[in-house]
Amino acid sequence: MEYKKVVDDLQQLNLGTILENEPLYKHTTYKVGGPCRIFIKVFNVECLKQLLHYIARHHIPFMVIGKGSNLLFSDREYRGIIISLNDYFTDIRVNGEYMIAQAGVSLIKLSNDACKYALSGLEFCGGIPGSIGGAIFMNAGAYLSEMSRVVEEVTILDEHYEVRVLSNAEMAFSYRRSILQSHPKWIVLEVKLHLKSADRSKIRQLMDHRKEKRMATQPWNLPSAGSVFRNPEKIPAWQCIDECGLRGYEIGGAQISPKHSNFIVNNGYASARDILDLIELARTRVYERFGIRLHTEVRLVNWQDD
Ligand SMILES: Cc1cc2nc3c(=O)[nH]c(=O)nc-3n(C[C@H](O)[C@H](O)[C@H](O)COP(=O)(O)OP(=O)(O)OC[C@H]3O[C@@H](n4cnc5c(N)ncnc54)[C@H](O)[C@@H]3O)c2cc1C
Repeated sequence: MEYKKVVDDLQQLNLGTILENEPLYKHTTYKVGGPCRIFIKVFNVECLKQLLHYIARHHIPFMVIGKGSNLLFSDREYRGIIISLNDYFTDIRVNGEYMIAQAGVSLIKLSNDACKYALSGLEFCGGIPGSIGGAIFMNAGAYLSEMSRVVEEVTILDEHYEVRVLSNAEMAFSYRRSILQSHPKWIVLEVKLHLKSADRSKIRQLMDHRKEKRMATQPWNLPSAGSVFRNPEKIPAWQCIDECGLRGYEIGGAQISPKHSNFIVNNGYASARDILDLIELARTRVYERFGIRLHTEVRLVNWQDD
């Protein structure tokens, strides 16, 4: 692939802000990841459609990312195009008990806005540093709630570049899953949430309480991607890891957080490889001790050899 030509073409088409050889550590909360050939912050839906047409015509690998808070990119170069909706898909509209947010909206902003409008339902995501697009993909959740509880419908762009509106039922949500995980070419454009009118001060109180709880129990001051593993059915992942004596264990600059054993933190000099090695080590030890296979909640990207 002649990337110089691709950049020239995309610049001509004027589809978004283009960054070349952009380090992905700047776009992930782990603060790791090699460069990607082209990173594009797309302007709008029409530009996104044109970009996807171009990508398909030239057989270029691509991926849409949100705020990179659930991703572990490898240290090597991503030979393709990373698409971000964070900069230009940021509108929020409110209509009675409905909030409509474009995919790039920050969950933290959205939950604070919901509180301002005295709308309850998003208190659980006040501390989740993702975008609404990523949260829908992951069916993000906390405190016994999750996105599926508040989603009315999701507007996507499908593999035929058609805009479609999917109902909550069509999203096939389950624990940290949605239909999007089996349709990697579908892109979330916008989400309509159904919230409930409530007392603003009570919403704020609950959000503040949860923030304090997170700060007390999670390593909020170091780069991480939140919980590394999905919780197995009978025993939480953190407990399995803890009982293997791995709390605080380090490989290079990556460490199983002394504060929360299902978090791996970057102590400032971790490579993506250090983090992956620690993930593999925890998996192996937990399997040896409990016979439980841990599955990552964090998504591993660009690790396969070509
Ligand atoms: C400190 C910390 C605490 C966390 N706490 C929680 C928690 O309590 N609960 C929880 O569930 N998660 C938690 N997370 C994980 C993470 O924040 C969530 O999974 C979040 O929903 C990911 O959103 P994102 O925008 O960062 O997505 P990314 O990590 O950028 O992407 C995740 C996946 O979504 C896809 N995606 C992103 N945007 C779109 C789009 N527009 N269309 C289609 N696909 C898209 C990507 O391709 C990727 O496969 C935490 C993370 C951190 C760092």
